[in-house]
Amino acid sequence: MYCEVYLFDAPYHIDRAFDYYTDRDICVGDIVRVPFGRQNKLRMGVVALVKDKSEGMNIKPVHSVLSARISFTEEMLGLCLFLKEHTLCTFGEAAKAILPRGALSENLNIKYSELLSLAVGEEETEKLLSSDGKGRIKSEGQREILRYLRGIGSADREIVKMLPGVTAAHIAALIKKGILTSDKTELYRNPYEKYFSKTDTEPIVLSRAQRAAYGVIEKLYLEDKPRCALLHGITGSGKTKIIMSAIDKAVAEGKKVIMMVPEIALTPQTLSIFCSRYGRRVATIHSSLSQGERLDAWRRIRDGGVDVVIGTRSAVLAPLDNIGLIIMDEEHEHTYKSESDPKYHARDVAAYRCARHNALLLLASATPSLESFYKAKSGIYTLIQLKERYGGFELPEAVIVDMREEIRLGNVGPISDRLLKELQGCQSRDEQGILFLNRRGYNSQISCKKCGEVLSCPRCSVSLTYHVGGEGKLMCHMCGYTQKLPKACPECGGTDLSFLGFGTQKVEGELSRYLPDMTVMRMDADTTTGKLSYDRMLEDFREGKADILLGTQMVAKGHDFPRVTLVGVVLADTSLYVSDFRAAERTFSLLTQVIGRAGRAGPGGRAIIQTYSPKNEIIKLACLQDYDSFYEGEIAIRKELSYPPFCDIVTLTLTSEDEAQLMRSSVTLSEFVLERLNKEYNSLPFVVFGPFEAQVYKINSKFRMKMIFKCKLNSKTRAFFRECLEKFALCKDVNLSADMNPFGV
Ligand code: ADP
Ligand code: ZN
Repeated sequence: MYCEVYLFDAPYHIDRAFDYYTDRDICVGDIVRVPFGRQNKLRMGVVALVKDKSEGMNIKPVHSVLSARISFTEEMLGLCLFLKEHTLCTFGEAAKAILPRGALSENLNIKYSELLSLAVGEEETEKLLSSDGKGRIKSEGQREILRYLRGIGSADREIVKMLPGVTAAHIAALIKKGILTSDKTELYRNPYEKYFSKTDTEPIVLSRAQRAAYGVIEKLYLEDKPRCALLHGITGSGKTKIIMSAIDKAVAEGKKVIMMVPEIALTPQTLSIFCSRYGRRVATIHSSLSQGERLDAWRRIRDGGVDVVIGTRSAVLAPLDNIGLIIMDEEHEHTYKSESDPKYHARDVAAYRCARHNALLLLASATPSLESFYKAKSGIYTLIQLKERYGGFELPEAVIVDMREEIRLGNVGPISDRLLKELQGCQSRDEQGILFLNRRGYNSQISCKKCGEVLSCPRCSVSLTYHVGGEGKLMCHMCGYTQKLPKACPECGGTDLSFLGFGTQKVEGELSRYLPDMTVMRMDADTTTGKLSYDRMLEDFREGKADILLGTQMVAKGHDFPRVTLVGVVLADTSLYVSDFRAAERTFSLLTQVIGRAGRAGPGGRAIIQTYSPKNEIIKLACLQDYDSFYEGEIAIRKELSYPPFCDIVTLTLTSEDEAQLMRSSVTLSEFVLERLNKEYNSLPFVVFGPFEAQVYKINSKFRMKMIFKCKLNSKTRAFFRECLEKFALCKDVNLSADMNPFGV
């Protein structure tokens, strides 16, 4: 017998299947150790194919098969190959994304419950415990165990271990003598146990508009072919209940479901809604599970014990079988795109898996990505729209405040007069408010008044942010570097420093000055470092422990707080002027989302949008929550300038700690690119930019050069990028990586 094996740690240029022979019974998906290379070092890999012939020479034997506890299904193998082909990662990188960490170690970190039982009869036990006679047990610890079990027969090991004077050695000795038997059962660690106490079996009662939307989804669901629907509903239109109805349907039909939400939406509120509805048949997958919890969730899914997987991006890789429905809530979120290998977009993987299972892909958003809405408009996806809020409540009235005018009137602080008044009004009516500013820290730029030097990170080419607290410190938001605030300019020694640009800390300070009797809760990366602090803050705010929730993106999206009637955007311009073709899309979606938090459970929701560019069209459209007009304008620009969805974008990034080496390599790369494109690939439409310095040239002491390609991704164009990666695969001091349709270009 022969088999084809993919190694888990093959470098890029030799990443393919290798033939081995074996006289054992071996199956596709088995994890094996095989000798590799001149020294026949043992490497781990997975069997991708079993066959009875091989064309190869000098075929080596399979060394061993790993315990059958972890193996790949055929779909998982297919997924690895899909990721390898579409994101240009190695097979091993894909496999490691699919397997939970620790799955490949010899000693799987599995917890057991162990039942210890007496293996001998009553009479025999008495004899063992007798005060004299043959076979009498002398060890006091062992005798204690026997005395305890004499009456009850068996007990959990943990209880036996707590008996006075008893140690693990006593238990082991009795097992060895055959007096005790041990029965192990595997346990699954589940941190969400507490959510299963409630059970929700209420039928969902949909409004008329929701029913119509659900009707379309159900009809699609019942078709037996791969298909995709885009549920576009304004904020507060009640998309969640429609999604739950669809999950109910799939589960009732015996099918399985993957439901993805962005990190910040995976809150206790969301989890408890789903756990109480689908009980222990729910598994959760996200990045802050412990290694053991993740392994157990994975095994439970793989063993068929789960109907509904809820999680963030990586949930799309869950080893679930018999999938009927995959849902991506807030499908426009950029966190669905992975930024490390494999650099996949969850939407692409979901589409691939739906194709395999003849399943329905359901995308939901109030502000769909341009790519998805374009597909919906072109009839590739079925478009389902909800234009009214659930309960008939009005969308919040949004007011634009011109901050230049505030300055003219002498107010240079971050909070306008109007916003201050609205906050006071909010408090007097015993309502809550959300304030959003996409920048943490106190001041975002410190510079020397004498020489103009801006204090920047020694490891990255970005300026340092000033954070108050303790003695105050300067911090790099790129790499985490911190230092004390210097007394003088490191460049000229001048002692007069200026502090510009404000972040959430500064706004917090201003609020306590102007509204001393309002309670403000600040939520950003600095206040949510503890494992559960984010969840706890959201709960506290929901329970009314604060009047204002102030924070970064974390406060902007997805949440449903019935008492929030006011939303303030402290500065709407922060994401508008970055040089990224998605800047307008991101600004529109962020503003729409945050404005949409107001007035969800009653009339009179308001939003105050502070900006230095009150005439900006994107800001105006977000205030009106007018997605359709935004889309029409933006899609025309994309078409005109040839950006996605009208083409694909690929970036090649060279990184190195050695700047001179990086420059030489980028010349090599650009020559190679031009040569290959002129010869082999000259029939394909490629537009090439660069190499140029990346927008942030240095991160964590590594310099970065970029090339950007506009093209149409298919097997031919991918082959070109693969050639580029192979060419640099052996370079030691520079690294080349490719990213297909990345965010932030
Ligand atoms: P969004 O479309 O913004 O995700 P949600 O799904 O959060 O909106 O719904 C907004 C609010 O309306 C929530 O508080 C939700 O509980 C309520 N809601 C929506 N649909 C229903 C329904 N069919 N029955 C009861 N409450 C509903
Ligand atoms: Zn840094």
